[in-house]
Amino acid sequence: MTAPLPLVFDAPRRGMPPRHLADLDADGRRAAMTELGLPKFRADQIARQYYGRLQADPTAMTDLPAAVRDTIAGALFPPLLTPVRHIACDAGETRKTLWRAGDGTLLESVLMRYPDRATLCISSQAGCGMACPFCATGQGGLTRNLSTAEIVDQVRAAAADLRDGAVPGGAGRLSNIVFMGMGEPLANYKRVVNAVRRITSPAPDGLGISQRNVVVSTVGLAPAIRKLADEGLSVTLAVSLHTPDDELRDTLVPVNNRWPVAEVLDAARYYADKTGRRISVEYALIRDINDQPWRGDMLGAKLHKALGSRVHVNVIPLNPTPGSKWDASPKPVEREFVRRVEAQGVPCTVRDTRGQEIAAACGQLAAEG
Ligand code: SF4
Repeated sequence: MTAPLPLVFDAPRRGMPPRHLADLDADGRRAAMTELGLPKFRADQIARQYYGRLQADPTAMTDLPAAVRDTIAGALFPPLLTPVRHIACDAGETRKTLWRAGDGTLLESVLMRYPDRATLCISSQAGCGMACPFCATGQGGLTRNLSTAEIVDQVRAAAADLRDGAVPGGAGRLSNIVFMGMGEPLANYKRVVNAVRRITSPAPDGLGISQRNVVVSTVGLAPAIRKLADEGLSVTLAVSLHTPDDELRDTLVPVNNRWPVAEVLDAARYYADKTGRRISVEYALIRDINDQPWRGDMLGAKLHKALGSRVHVNVIPLNPTPGSKWDASPKPVEREFVRRVEAQGVPCTVRDTRGQEIAAACGQLAAEG
C-alpha cells in the first residue's frame, strides 16, 4: 500500500524570474553577448565584475562603456533580490537576511561568523513542499523554486558585505556554504547543481569557494542523491534523517513514504563510495517524539552498518516554532541519546544552535513576514 505523496510534486505557485547573468555558464554568457550584438570578450569582463569584484550593479561596472552598461543592465541584470531587513543576534556574529525577489517572493539566508570561518546558510526554494510537521517552512508549502541566479546571488551579496566590513566583526571572507535554508535542494536539482558550480568555480566562472566547504542537504530523495554522486563534485551531503525507523519517519518526514530509510542509506552509501566524502546525518531531536534511547541505539547501528566510519551525526536541538506542540529534548535526554549513538561506533555531536533568538529554524523569519 502506497501512501499518497503529492508533496514532492507540489506545483510551484509562481514562475521563474527573467534570465540573469548568474543563470548562465561561460558558453551561455558568450551566446548572450552575440544576441546583444556585443563582442564575446565582454562576457568575461562582465563575469569578472560579478564573480571577482562581487559587483551586481552594471551601472558601477566602470571598465565597460556606458552604452554597454545600459544594454547588459536591461538584458542580464533584472531585479533579483532586495534585502527587506537584516536581523542580528549572538552579539552580531549571526545575521539573518530576509530577501524579496523580483516577483515579491520572500526568502532568507543566515550568515554565521566563527573565529576560523564564515558560513552562509542559503535557501534553494521559497517555501518547501516536503511538509515536515515540525518545521515552519513546511507548513506554508512550496511557493516556487529559486532560479540559479537567486541562489548564487545570496552568496555574492554576503561575500560582498563581509569583504566590505558591512557585517559586525570587521572585514572578512566567506568560506563555507550550507544549503540548509528554506526548501529541499534536491527537489530543485538542476538549478542547485548549477548554483554549486557557480559558487565553487574560480573567477571569472564563479565565486571560488572550495567544494569541500559546501554542504548540500536533503530529506532523502534517493534517486537525486545518486545523481548528485555522479556529478563529479566533492561537496558534503547532509541527510536529514530525524529518526531511524520508517514507522515514525513516515509522519516526521513524509517523503519517507516514497523512499524509506533503507533506500536513503543505500543512496548515501553510493554517494560516499563515489565521492569519498563522509556523510553528515542531521537529527532534529524532539522531546518525546524521536529522542528515546532505543532510537539512539538503532540510529547508530543502522548508520554503522550502512556507512561504517564514513558518517557523522549532528544532533540539532529543535528550535520550537511559536504555538507548536513540538519542543526540544531536555539536556540529560540529549546527552544519553548522543552516548547511545556513539556507543555504536558513530561519531555524534550536538550542533551549535546559532540564531535561536532570531528564529533561525528554517523558514521562521519568512513565515513571520
Ligand atoms: S524541515 Fe526542511 S525539508 Fe522539511 S519541510 Fe522544513 S524546509 Fe522542507
